[in-house]
Amino acid sequence: MHGTTLQRASRQTRDLVATGYRFYVPNYKPRQMILDYGEGSRLYDLDGNAYIDLGAGIGVNALGHGHAALVKALTDQAGRLWHTSNIYFTAPAVHLARELVEASGFAARVFFCNSGGEANEAAIKLIRKWAAARGKQPHEREIITFKGAFHGRTLATVTATVQPRYQQGFEPLPAGFVHCEAFNDEDALAALMSDNTAAVMLEPIQGEGGVIPAKPGFLKWVRALCDCHGALMVLDEVQCGMGRTGKLWCHMWEEGLKPDILTSAKALGGGFPIGAMLAGPTVAEVLQFGSHGSTFGGNPMACAAARVVLHHVCTPELMDNVRARGAQLHRALEAFKAGHAVFSEVRGRGLMIGAALAPPWHGRAAELMEAAREKGVLILQAGPDVLRFLPPLNITAADLEEGLERLAAAIAQFVANA
Ligand SMILES: *Cc1c(COP(=O)(O)O)cnc(C)c1O
Repeated sequence: MHGTTLQRASRQTRDLVATGYRFYVPNYKPRQMILDYGEGSRLYDLDGNAYIDLGAGIGVNALGHGHAALVKALTDQAGRLWHTSNIYFTAPAVHLARELVEASGFAARVFFCNSGGEANEAAIKLIRKWAAARGKQPHEREIITFKGAFHGRTLATVTATVQPRYQQGFEPLPAGFVHCEAFNDEDALAALMSDNTAAVMLEPIQGEGGVIPAKPGFLKWVRALCDCHGALMVLDEVQCGMGRTGKLWCHMWEEGLKPDILTSAKALGGGFPIGAMLAGPTVAEVLQFGSHGSTFGGNPMACAAARVVLHHVCTPELMDNVRARGAQLHRALEAFKAGHAVFSEVRGRGLMIGAALAPPWHGRAAELMEAAREKGVLILQAGPDVLRFLPPLNITAADLEEGLERLAAAIAQFVANA
């Protein structure tokens, strides 16, 4: 099999794409296609083209598309109650709160919101309140984040996100963030820690920054350093959490490690928007009545969906699949690396894998992503030099194999035309 050849975009597709480009603010650059429906790890566009989905809406559709239990939970809830605000409890939200806390291994309480950026924003506000309650002045409430990090697009989270391309022109940025110039470098971090440090915030595997895992032992070392300085350890598991690496949370690969705060979103709702901040016992009581809030946070539709996702992620069957499919994906990319020399490194864990382009191909991840789409497989990039794979956690061996065959065809053509 050599990948599929796409139907030309129809009049209807071209009109819709043109209309989207006419009426959206131009911050995105969507492809010349209109996705119409999905089934498992396959997506179909309006022109009848079928794609293998190895990106899952940027790591969101954890159970693939149209999962029966998710559809049922959402349709049942849709016929019952959509929204109440946080003036009232609803059963799905209360159950989800308890289930998340009990499964977390460290948390005592949870705050619900609607996205990863908001979960991190909540964490940042909690850190500051906590420091303030300990008598720390504003300049003594520093939060350290790392080179290559991505924490979101709100003003505070974009400040925590060190990359200039996300920040330029949005100044003035909020104060109180300290940038560590090297991820995975104990000495660089130790040099920045002081009595002014309120928290260290990091991703166990940096996602947008290029799929860069914390090296073994690094998270525990950060934990120890935080304890030493009386600072909080905050893990942003928005991308690498919710089963993505073969355990509920990625940091669970480090035996016994407990953060103070963990943020989740993306896969949490399986495609329905929801974010959560989990707070450990030290900080669980910090956000007192009236101190923070969200109109939609804890929405019963979102929570009904998230309960289904959490239930599946907590089964050994799904986690075994993540590990087995992850190994299959890793092996296949290693084989491409040996065959075509387009990749210099394959890295990541479970179904969060990055393939770094070899130097001659630097800057061309977007082109390769488009070449793959033209062969019927949807992949992601992480910066200009890295292809990123975040397939549904329940992808079958056969679907993954077919996606990889299509990718192989795309790479072969890309290399031949170069
Ligand atoms: C995607 C992402 C975010 C931001 O999430 P949004 O839902 O887009 O606000 C934050 N942190 C990490 C690690 C992410 O991957």
